[in-house]
Amino acid sequence: MYDVLVVGTGPAGYTAALYAARYKLDTMMIGEMPGGLISEAPDVCNFPSRKSISGMELANKMEEQVKELGVEVIYDKVEDIKGNDDDFTINALREEYKTKKVILATGQDRRRLGLDRESKLTGRGVSYCATCDAAFYNEKTVGVVGGGDAALASALLLVEYADKVYILYRKDSFFRPEPIRVEEVEQNDNIETIFNVNVDELLGEEKLTGVKLNNGETLELDGLFIEIGSIPNNVLAKNLGVKIVDNGYINTDEYRRTNIPGIYAAGDIIDSPLKQAITAAGQGAEAAASAYEDIQRQRVKDE
Ligand SMILES: Cc1cc2nc3c(=O)[nH]c(=O)nc-3n(C[C@H](O)[C@H](O)[C@H](O)COP(=O)(O)OP(=O)(O)OC[C@H]3O[C@@H](n4cnc5c(N)ncnc54)[C@H](O)[C@@H]3O)c2cc1C
Repeated sequence: MYDVLVVGTGPAGYTAALYAARYKLDTMMIGEMPGGLISEAPDVCNFPSRKSISGMELANKMEEQVKELGVEVIYDKVEDIKGNDDDFTINALREEYKTKKVILATGQDRRRLGLDRESKLTGRGVSYCATCDAAFYNEKTVGVVGGGDAALASALLLVEYADKVYILYRKDSFFRPEPIRVEEVEQNDNIETIFNVNVDELLGEEKLTGVKLNNGETLELDGLFIEIGSIPNNVLAKNLGVKIVDNGYINTDEYRRTNIPGIYAAGDIIDSPLKQAITAAGQGAEAAASAYEDIQRQRVKDE
C-alpha cells in the first residue's frame, strides 16, 4: 500500500512526487512515457533557473530528482481506478497497485491537423504553444490555424514579435471570441485574417517553409501555430465520479482537492487558465501538500 500514487509523468506529476517524497510519504508514479508534453518542447525558455533547456532534458532532470528521493517510477497505462478515501486500487495494463491517495496529473493532448510530416516539423516551425515559442519568431512571418479565442490570443502575442501574422480559419467568422480581442486583431495592420480556408499541406523538409491552402494559394511562413483546441485526458477522473467542468477539465479547490476524498488533481488536466510547465509544477506541489495534510490528519485520528 503506497501513501500516494501519482498518475502522469509530466511536470505536475514529477513535482507532486517530489513534494510527497520530501514529506516522507511512500510515493509511486505511473506514466505512459517519460516527460509528458514538455518533452516535445525543443527549447524551454520560461522555466526559472535556466535560460534555455530542451523539454526532454528538463523532464529527465525532474525524473532523476524524484528517483533519488526514492520514488518508484513505472511506465504503464492506468486503465482504471477504484475505491475510496485511503484505499484505492489502480489497475494498470501490466500490474495492480494499492494506494491511500491518488494525484491525477494526466494532462491533455493538443488537437493536431493530421497532416503529413506534422510530427516531424513540430519544433521545426510547427508549434502548439504561442506562450512557449512566440519569442523564436522575431521579425518573421507566421500563421495561426484556428478561429477561437485561443487562436486570437496567440495571434496577438505573436504579433508582438513577428512582422506579419496570418490567421487561417475554416469558417467565415471567429468562434465565440472575446469581443475586445476581435477589435484588437482587426485594428492591427500586421495581422491578416483569411477565412474559409483549410491548410492542406505543410511545406519544407527539415524545417517549415510555408503552407498550401485548399484555395490553391501558397503562403510562405517561418512558423505555424496550431490552435484548434486540446483534449483533456479525463477518462480516469470521469470513471471515478470526479467533477469535470463543461470544457472537460477537472474542477479542484485551491488546494487541488477534487470532490472525491483522496483524489487530487494538478497540471494541464485541471480547469485553470495558464497551461504551462511552471503552473503545472506549482499545482503538483499543492496537491502533494494536501495529500500529506489529509494523511497526517487520519494518522492523528487513528492514534
Ligand atoms: C510543443 C510544446 C511545447 C511546449 N513548450 C512549453 C514551454 O516552453 N514552456 C512551458 O512552460 N510549457 C510548454 N508547453 C506546455 C507544457 O508542456 C505543459 O503545460 C505541461 O507539460 C503540463 O504538464 P502536466 O504534467 O500537467 O501534463 P503532461 O506534461 O501532459 O503530462 C501528463 C502525463 O500523463 C500521462 N497520462 C495520461 N493518461 C494516463 C494514463 N491513463 N495512464 C498513465 N499515464 C497517463 C501522459 O502520457 C503524460 O505523460 C509546451 C507544450 C508543447 C506541446
